[in-house]
Amino acid sequence: MTGTLTIAGLGPGDEALITPEVSAALAAATDIVGYAPYVARVRPRDGLTLHPSDNRVELQRAGDALQLASEGRHVVVVSSGDPGVFAMASAVFEALEEFPQWRELPIRVLPGVTAMLAAAASAGAPLGHDFCAINLSDNLKPWPVIEKRLRLAAEADFAIAMYNPRSASRPEGFGRALEILREAGCGERFVIFARAVSAPDQRIETVKLHEASPEMADMRTLVIVGNSATRRVGRWVYAPRHAR
Ligand code: SAH
Repeated sequence: MTGTLTIAGLGPGDEALITPEVSAALAAATDIVGYAPYVARVRPRDGLTLHPSDNRVELQRAGDALQLASEGRHVVVVSSGDPGVFAMASAVFEALEEFPQWRELPIRVLPGVTAMLAAAASAGAPLGHDFCAINLSDNLKPWPVIEKRLRLAAEADFAIAMYNPRSASRPEGFGRALEILREAGCGERFVIFARAVSAPDQRIETVKLHEASPEMADMRTLVIVGNSATRRVGRWVYAPRHAR
């Protein structure tokens, strides 16, 4: 029996934002592998084995998933949002580099609605012009790299979507990120704090960057810094389509 490995994104939280393609993969799965809170979002049923694991064991988890698929199981590795955005798809490909014996397995990556898109839609259209996404966790990259990318993104006048703003290992990082952006002359830019987007406790708050403080974000927050032309209309925040 040939197994399969599907790497799927569950979207930001609301079931309505799970794509039909991902729902079909979950319905056909024999095994669900992933970080425990994401596995908990999959409804248990007969014939389905759930394999929740801890945070930060991505490579181990990817290896386990490949092993199960090689034994003939239909495995779905779940991530929140999109599996290719700061999530499990890269970890699976890293494992494939390490273990060539699994390279012939049928593997599919199914996209999902990533947090920054759901956050942007809730606020208006702050990513309507050029933008970039930065993971503020320094778990897998040195902090100076994050600082450099923030400075250059500010200089390039990108809107900036920030994932993992408050990393557990470096709670002071987000405050430093705000400081760097202030030093780069972004104090008057709008900043959107989008917390628990699409969940019942969703909260969207927009302030000027010079008014922003580190406590306004936690691990369930996606932060979007507007570009220099980003503006408000009524309760909405958007980036005009033209650059100055
Ligand atoms: N693969 C995921 C990102 C994983 S990193 C995706 O594509 O969305 C985890 C970070 O994503 C969190 O720290 C937070 O910054 C952001 N995030 C995930 N879900 C979110 C939600 N519902 N609301 C706000 N931010 C969210």
